[in-house]
Amino acid sequence: MQFPHLFSELTIGRTRVKNRSFSAGHATRLIEADGTVGDRLLAYHQARAEAEIGMIITEVNVVHPTYEPQNRLSVTSDACIPGLQKLADMGRPYDCRIVGQLFHPGRVAGMSVDGSIMQTFGPSEAPDEVYKNIPKPLSNAQVWEIIESYAVGGRRMAEAGLDGIEVISSMGYLPSQFLNPRLNRREDEFGGGLTGRMRFLREIIAGIRRAAGDDILLGIRISADEMDEEGMRPGETLEALQLLEQDGQLDYFNIIAATTASYDGWMHIIPHMVHEPGYLAPLAADVKAAVSLPVFIAGRVNQPQEAERLLATGQADLIGMVRAHICDPHFTRKAKEGRVDDIRACIGCNQACIGHGLKGFSISCIQYPETGRELEYYDKPKAQDAKTVVVVGGGPAGMKAAAVAAERGHQVTLYEKDARLGGQALLAQLLPDRSEFGGIVTNLTREMERHGVDIRLNTPLDAGKIAALKADAVILATGARPQLPGLEGLGEDAHVVDSWSVIRGEANVGKSVVIWDWRSDWVGLGLAQMLAQNGCHVRLAVNGIVAGERIPSMVRDHAVGELHKLGVEIVPYVRLFGADADTVYFQHITSKQPVVLDGVDTLVSHHAPARVAGLEEELMKLGLDPVAIGDCVNPRTAEEAVLEGLRAAMAL
Ligand code: SF4
Repeated sequence: MQFPHLFSELTIGRTRVKNRSFSAGHATRLIEADGTVGDRLLAYHQARAEAEIGMIITEVNVVHPTYEPQNRLSVTSDACIPGLQKLADMGRPYDCRIVGQLFHPGRVAGMSVDGSIMQTFGPSEAPDEVYKNIPKPLSNAQVWEIIESYAVGGRRMAEAGLDGIEVISSMGYLPSQFLNPRLNRREDEFGGGLTGRMRFLREIIAGIRRAAGDDILLGIRISADEMDEEGMRPGETLEALQLLEQDGQLDYFNIIAATTASYDGWMHIIPHMVHEPGYLAPLAADVKAAVSLPVFIAGRVNQPQEAERLLATGQADLIGMVRAHICDPHFTRKAKEGRVDDIRACIGCNQACIGHGLKGFSISCIQYPETGRELEYYDKPKAQDAKTVVVVGGGPAGMKAAAVAAERGHQVTLYEKDARLGGQALLAQLLPDRSEFGGIVTNLTREMERHGVDIRLNTPLDAGKIAALKADAVILATGARPQLPGLEGLGEDAHVVDSWSVIRGEANVGKSVVIWDWRSDWVGLGLAQMLAQNGCHVRLAVNGIVAGERIPSMVRDHAVGELHKLGVEIVPYVRLFGADADTVYFQHITSKQPVVLDGVDTLVSHHAPARVAGLEEELMKLGLDPVAIGDCVNPRTAEEAVLEGLRAAMAL
């Protein structure tokens, strides 16, 4: 056994867990419109449960009408029981423990049923930074009512047959607000010293235990360090956990970090690729040293070797790997079978998992778009008639199409004009703090190899050559190329270079640089960081309301912070008008007034790329019926490229 600690059983309370791999609670937006469990959510969790994961902690369940948004499970009525029962029943045949989370966010409530700002409540009137809510202090009667609602919710979960219940006390949510001396200024029995501030959580735990019984697994999730001036500090959390352990009602502590109440806190809620895998484990180790109950940890653990290391060094007892299983539902099974190289490792981009969630859409993964679409794409039926398939282009779109087509039994050959696979992903990985993005190329290459794709590098094809191959199906994934803006105002004496050549290190760039960022995504931010780190004076002019407008907020917020440290000036709300020898001219998007940046040596243009198109029409003239996918249709991101590769291969 390659990972003896990861694949050892653990009894937590009265509940046996078959291994140390678990999926921590996370929003999927796969629930039904009425807040219940439906087929999409069941299929999502079943894909992980059947692949050997030991425990799944499902997403939050709302406990009380003082917080009742859309897109959340709810235990506020008995209507929840049949759905939760389906979840519990789903896990049993796989010996996978299913745990439900009980939740009230207090002041950090972000969503309303109808788009209006909902009423928010907290222990005291302490506004937060992110949601900009000014909570109404809960009355004493309301506090007792909410405590009771946790107990009733727990009773419903027990009736449904769930294996466990987890109270969310983490990330600045309501129980944490009560614990926090900077947020809890109450003068009743729920405020004051530590005993008073702990009372809310203690009463919740005791109430659930009474209502749900002694057999059910009961734990809390808590941020050991909320990583925020106003948040809970490690010493405060430890003291509270030791007292909770002494109460003898809980079975485990699920440790995490940060708070949703602040922007810098959010950067650690779902840490992206700038953070080292397992970087939160020292927090769990400190808790483990202070308590006897089992301690769980999560936080960018994306490989079984890392999980094994954290367990072997005694830093935690169970390892939460959420995105690892979003990206590869078979993660735990592959680890158990020693097929480590087959694991599609999460690259921490946050683009389609939390990135979708932040925009209100269902969870997915840029590398594995089958996630969230299990009902359509999880099963890959073998093709009735195996076809010969030619894929033209070895970027993410072509690689995914080739891998899935071959998995389905087709005979696939992929032709790439360059010496390396990867397309624009090879560029993305060259940007500062983005090197892990190259993992998408490694993973897709491995998938193609596993399924027997014939890969031909350095092989450009024209329409005639493609037709001569006489394949049954042709998939075009020829991508995009950079282009400079065709503006009349661009003088011949202006020094203008495109972003791709700068990233590759092929362009000469002067000391004073203006970046024209049409896209407002990772590239403008990354180029600015790269050039500033190389000693340039950088101004980042953005065709958007903020730099990085189109990328997940925690990725953007981190990058903007790095640019601030480097002294990069960000100029939002502009469109490029022209440039001459030492000046770049913009127009303010809304005022239409000129914005002039002078003293410029080089204009680096990250403008709308051009489709590499034409083959499709030429092939159609030759009587073929090719399918075009990815950037050669519309230049977008790796996510859409991989999704369209999947769809094209499934349609064969
Ligand atoms: Fe990981 Fe990115 Fe997939 Fe999210 S979208 S699971 S961060 S690879």
